[in-house]
Amino acid sequence: MPSSGKSGSGSGRTRRTTPCSFCGKSQRDVGPMVEGPGDVHICAACVELCHNIIRQEKRRATTSKTLLGSIPSPKSIKEFLDQYVIGQDNAKKVLAVAVYNHYKRLAHTDSADEDDVEIDKSNVLLIGPTGAGKTLLARCLSRLLNVPFAIGDATTLTEAGYVGEDVENILLRLLQNADYDLEAAQRGIIYIDEIDKIGKTSQNVSITRDVSGEGVQQALLKMLEGAISNVPPQGGRKHPEQQYIQMDTSQILFICGGTFVGVDEIIKRRIGHASIGFGGEMERGGRGDEKAELSHILPQITPEDLIEYGMIPELVGRLPVITTLDPLGQEALVSILTEPRNALVKQYQRLFEMENCKLKFTEEALHLMAEKAIKRDTGARALRAVTEELMTDIMFRLPDQGRGGSYTVTEEVVRGEADLYDQAPTRRRESA
Ligand code: ADP
Repeated sequence: MPSSGKSGSGSGRTRRTTPCSFCGKSQRDVGPMVEGPGDVHICAACVELCHNIIRQEKRRATTSKTLLGSIPSPKSIKEFLDQYVIGQDNAKKVLAVAVYNHYKRLAHTDSADEDDVEIDKSNVLLIGPTGAGKTLLARCLSRLLNVPFAIGDATTLTEAGYVGEDVENILLRLLQNADYDLEAAQRGIIYIDEIDKIGKTSQNVSITRDVSGEGVQQALLKMLEGAISNVPPQGGRKHPEQQYIQMDTSQILFICGGTFVGVDEIIKRRIGHASIGFGGEMERGGRGDEKAELSHILPQITPEDLIEYGMIPELVGRLPVITTLDPLGQEALVSILTEPRNALVKQYQRLFEMENCKLKFTEEALHLMAEKAIKRDTGARALRAVTEELMTDIMFRLPDQGRGGSYTVTEEVVRGEADLYDQAPTRRRESA
């Protein structure tokens, strides 16, 4: 491309009407242009576009060479997840393999010949109860990977034209996270939460349109299938007069998550029938721990169950990898309190250290906290609330106390029968 030239602005009458040789727009529309030899002109927007194209081409040439070398192996992906997420081994393994294959596919697509085998992408569906770690897994992956990552929520989406978000806004988020590098964003990973909330509302007897159900599923389907989506660069609703960024979603890996409350009933009904023929491994009407039952039933989910739940078959077909997360029991919750790299207990201990204080929790106290959290039925999510309730008062008083000291959270403290601040050394000295 000719690089020498001078500004074409205001250089003669005929020049003023000379259009940009690249986009064809006139100087009146696009402002000053750079002129090259042979009556070639280029406007500022096209200069920028060319710059981006060249940059992307260069990157493509280098990334396909380095991508495979820099892929963490499935085992090391899982090991990384282990540092933050307790349990859920199966989901971790499935995700690790899906992400690893995603990288491999990207490297393969870049280097493949026309007639080479095409590797299909395997979007993942995570199913599990609230607070079992679905979003956490996705977030941890984003921390590990060097591809752009975005998280969207299916409940905020509505069919185009209705109040709510357009599906494309998730793509915009990915683009933003990739610093508007389109090429990088088109190789990214998107996590869509609460996918179960956009089930077909077949029971809906009202005459209003189902704008958040099947319509959204159709829109998501297009994205998952791999289409060219028009992304509004400023976000928000699409306007006909707006300029769009065209984004190809065929290389984006989608991970969807949902609780699918009640799907276990559908599975049970199906298994119930099957078990008659096979001598019935399932005890019908058998009692037992509800959670244990759910972790036994849920992994048996099939695409047909999801369709019965209200997902359109095409969308289910685009999520070929289904994995389930177990509900978290008391022991798991205690581990979550103490073990992950950023475990709540460690966080509070660090906060106490900053005040020159020490903080300990007895085993019994931890178990009681977990028990309290279980009662709230929001999985590990309740742990933060339980811990904050316990610590707020002392965190309020500690900075003024200024004398350090060692504090132990005991069962009595968790029960509210003892005040943690009573262990403060200043208090004792004052009262002595
Ligand atoms: P959901 O499955 O509903 O998406 P989240 O991943 O948002 O649940 O979990 C909420 C919070 O609970 C997380 O931020 C994390 O602190 C904690 N948590 C949930 N599951 C786990 C887990 N398996 N290991 C460690 N922490 C967890």
